[in-house]
Amino acid sequence: MTRIGGHALDTEAGTEARLVVGEAEDERRDRIAVHVRAILEELDLDLADPNLQRTHERVAEMYLEMFHGLREGAEPEVTTFPNDEKYSHMVMEKEIPFYSMCSHHLVPFYGKAHIAYIPRDEIIGLSKFSRILEFYAKRPQLQERLTEQVVDYLESKLAPQGAMVVIEARHLCVEMRGVKKPGAVTVTSAIRGTFHERPVREEFLDLLRRP
Ligand SMILES: [Zn+2]
Repeated sequence: MTRIGGHALDTEAGTEARLVVGEAEDERRDRIAVHVRAILEELDLDLADPNLQRTHERVAEMYLEMFHGLREGAEPEVTTFPNDEKYSHMVMEKEIPFYSMCSHHLVPFYGKAHIAYIPRDEIIGLSKFSRILEFYAKRPQLQERLTEQVVDYLESKLAPQGAMVVIEARHLCVEMRGVKKPGAVTVTSAIRGTFHERPVREEFLDLLRRP
């Protein structure tokens, strides 16, 4: 993995709790709302203000949506197809937009991902790339971990000859607070298989640069 740009994140994957939903979801939303309201009270905000009256409920609702990837059963259904054409060149989808929430500060980081693989026996529909990305983005996340999870998913589903993911993102926790570096872009990459070979990586970068 390589990093360019300034966000000091640890890369330890850690284990993620699964969010079991169903009947319990309404109760969970209500409990989150209670805690958010307590935070707003601690900030001495006037909760009678019409703009703040139901903010705790909206935030709770929004968290459940933004962390949807943690839900049990949220995994994207990815059907693979036999590679009948024996296609053995690079398949790439670039500039896939995404939004996620930084694990450290619970504020957004967002940007675009470039995902490529070289098939072996199985291929997937191109639209699946963004589904996979979204699944891993919708949770408290680190850019490094997101990058690795997407490439690992491709590897486990397709057993390709190789795969590569590059993510470019802006982190609001960097831009809005502390060191304040507006516009700074953090770049992460993860490679598997044949992408370890320089010419293959160069082809990826060449395709990336092409308009
Ligand atoms: Zn952060």
